[in-house]
Amino acid sequence: MTRISRAPAPRVAPPSEGAHWTVMHLVRWAAGYLEEKGVESPRLDAELLLAEVLHMSRLDLYLHFDRPVGPDELASFKRPLLDRATRMPLQYILGRTSFRELELMTDPRVLIPRPETEELVGAVLDWAKGAGLSGARALDIGTGSGAIAISLALEGPFEGVVATDPSEDALDVARENARRAGVGDRIDFRRGSFYEPILGPEGVAGAASDRGERFDVIVSNPPYVAEEEFDGLEPEIRQWEPRGALVAPDAGLGILRELVDGAGAVLEPGGLLALEVGLGQATWVADRVRSTRRPGAAEAFIEPRVLRDLAGRECMVLAERRKD
Ligand code: SAM
Ligand code: GLN
Repeated sequence: MTRISRAPAPRVAPPSEGAHWTVMHLVRWAAGYLEEKGVESPRLDAELLLAEVLHMSRLDLYLHFDRPVGPDELASFKRPLLDRATRMPLQYILGRTSFRELELMTDPRVLIPRPETEELVGAVLDWAKGAGLSGARALDIGTGSGAIAISLALEGPFEGVVATDPSEDALDVARENARRAGVGDRIDFRRGSFYEPILGPEGVAGAASDRGERFDVIVSNPPYVAEEEFDGLEPEIRQWEPRGALVAPDAGLGILRELVDGAGAVLEPGGLLALEVGLGQATWVADRVRSTRRPGAAEAFIEPRVLRDLAGRECMVLAERRKD
């Protein structure tokens, strides 16, 4: 989430009936109020909420700092401000989140897409370019808002994209986002866990109903927060985002493990598995990739790569399936 201005907001009197408010006065007051509620970037958030209510850009606020704010505008500002004070994320209040080239609809049915996931998509696109892919097929497991799948369909050399999620609510949001982005007919949304939407229920256990579908890329930002860590997350995450999008069993590694173990069965030879992982999980996931064997005991993947995000955190593991 964006963190910009942290200057303490000066205390000013609250809005009262009949008072004459200006943009500047209201921003200062709202920032002070949000700061008291523990909001991380109170000034920025106050500005973004007021800009929304006044149908202005944030820059416009600065250009019109002395503009009076009328009673109706004041009344419309109250609801979103109170919501933010309960630590509802700004992206749920505004109902949208920027992600790469997209503006995605976001509400509490889906995780708010994160900047590091934009980088995961970037890494996949770079790889696809380097591999000279065309007419390729991609699989996004746990698509949430659809952020990864829609970006791949828009920006990448993919003819077919399959996006899965066990949450029907999430799939509803993702479908709507795909439609708005103009790629609704190019993404096949399927409900289910892990590789089940690809292999079918028996396929997961014994490859019995394997539909023979293969992908050039499997990408996932799965839940990876440990149960024990959940209570320590910020209220914006803990109280508002879907728990099932965040928490995974076995110290947060349970879902990543299944994704690594099953990838060989649905990846084309030479295809890429790209996973977002939590802090301190990259080494374990890379080791799991190294120890994945094919029948006959040959290694399934070539040496995995661990990538860092812009903040320097090891948060992506990329592994190519062996061609031979
Ligand atoms: N891909 C989106 C993004 O990056 O913003 C959402 C990621 S969110 C961290 C994880 C998603 O995985 C959620 O939408 C959740 O419903 C889904 N999920 C949870 N358990 C899953 C499972 N066993 N198999 C597949 N997806 C799962
Ligand atoms: N990166 C998210 C966080 O802020 C977690 C998302 C996930 O579990 N994949 O906690």
